[in-house]
Amino acid sequence: MLLTISTTHEPATDLGYLLHKNPDRVHEFSLSFGRALVFYPEASPARCTVALLLEIDPIELVRGKSGAGDQGFALSDYVNDRPYVASSFMAVALNAAFRSAIAGRSTHRQDLAEVDIPLVVEIAVLPSRGGDEFIRKLFEPLGYDVVTTHLPLDDRFPEWGESTYYRTVLRITAKLADVLRHLTVLIPVLDGWKHYWVGDDEVEKLLKRGEGWLASHPERDTIAFRYLKRRRNLMRMAVERLTEEETADPDEVESARDEEEAKLERPVSLHEQRLGAVAAVLKSAGAHRVVDLGCGEGKLIERLLKDAQFERIVGMDVSHRALERAADKLHFDRMPSKQRERVELIHGSLTYRDKRLSGYDAATLVEVIEHLDAARLATLERVIFEAAKPQTVVVTTPNVEYNVKFETLEPGTPRHKDHRFEWTRAEFERWGTDASTRFGYAFRAIPVGPEDPNVGAPTQMGVFTLSN
Ligand code: SAH
Repeated sequence: MLLTISTTHEPATDLGYLLHKNPDRVHEFSLSFGRALVFYPEASPARCTVALLLEIDPIELVRGKSGAGDQGFALSDYVNDRPYVASSFMAVALNAAFRSAIAGRSTHRQDLAEVDIPLVVEIAVLPSRGGDEFIRKLFEPLGYDVVTTHLPLDDRFPEWGESTYYRTVLRITAKLADVLRHLTVLIPVLDGWKHYWVGDDEVEKLLKRGEGWLASHPERDTIAFRYLKRRRNLMRMAVERLTEEETADPDEVESARDEEEAKLERPVSLHEQRLGAVAAVLKSAGAHRVVDLGCGEGKLIERLLKDAQFERIVGMDVSHRALERAADKLHFDRMPSKQRERVELIHGSLTYRDKRLSGYDAATLVEVIEHLDAARLATLERVIFEAAKPQTVVVTTPNVEYNVKFETLEPGTPRHKDHRFEWTRAEFERWGTDASTRFGYAFRAIPVGPEDPNVGAPTQMGVFTLSN
């Protein structure tokens, strides 16, 4: 589930200040139904894009339901479209991730928060049973230019026909806070699925988010009815109050909310954060075919398998034992055949040119390069950037400067005894810039994990993108 917002208002990277999210980092949140990642696939002064990626855990979703009345177990609980479409969850995640921005507050760029700027919102999969016409009816009266692309049910089976899903691009020049408020109301309106109990406080939420635009929207009643999940009594309450043009928005709760936001960003294990960051980059790069080089026990593969965007996932490792463990952990023996067809594990080494590595959209090397002798790196570069040549390459490696923060680590020793080297941020930057220049890629280094003002973040992630 992916939503991006871009601006070309210069310097575009100020979008980070508006959202209270540094463009140079990946931000991860745990939510009751899965996790959300915020990161910037593009961050230049001319154009900046923030992506909100939502990973829903279908199992958690069912477990978490017990409080909302016993609906019994149904297969549809586990097999549903929730993980893939922008829905009420996206609205919850937007609220959680961008609380201050939705309130129109920016610590460093309050002036910018209060002016109209050009914005483009892209929603990868938006459900609409009322067709694209309904999407237009909701957004066009607010001044959006709407472009939708009808998505087939399944690319591989065009004969299954069209779905009720649309890739949607919304363009507008407006305040970011207004756009976020529109999205948090209208996305759940388009999605008829209930995932949470709709109580009276939902009316409050709707009025708050709808302030300044909902009362005069031509579809006002439909929006209220559907947002409140067809609860007529609630809808009536909402409409009455909207008609009174009430402004029920005292500021008093805002500072408490900042604290909530901080609490939300509770620590996730570093390896989890790393995998999340890598998956987020792959997702936003639009990769369908991914090869994970030095896949180890297959943790990244396991994560990518949960997302249908990744049609083919191949793991390669030099260690037979690691591959066996991966097959075991991924439960190859009892994986449904459709799923099984998406993955493959191959034995091979990164220090040899290998035809099997061609034809992928992306290659990943998660905590792998430091296991190779520095002298072999030149070969690895040619194997990846010259022979395999995927559009995107993501590399993660330790930031040695951070080692002083690990109390149990003897000074001067690497994090793992098999590490042949560990780089400083400057060394990584130099390697990435140099390799990318030689092979025609663009390079960007992004810290992953909690950042220390002096020594940086524990992990460094490099994203290489093939220049056209
Ligand atoms: N990417 C995994 C594993 C990292 S450990 C994860 O993040 O969990 C490093 C892995 O790189 C090990 O599994 C090791 O077997 C593999 N490796 C080391 N040298 C390699 C080489 N030359 N070619 C392929 N894999 C290699």
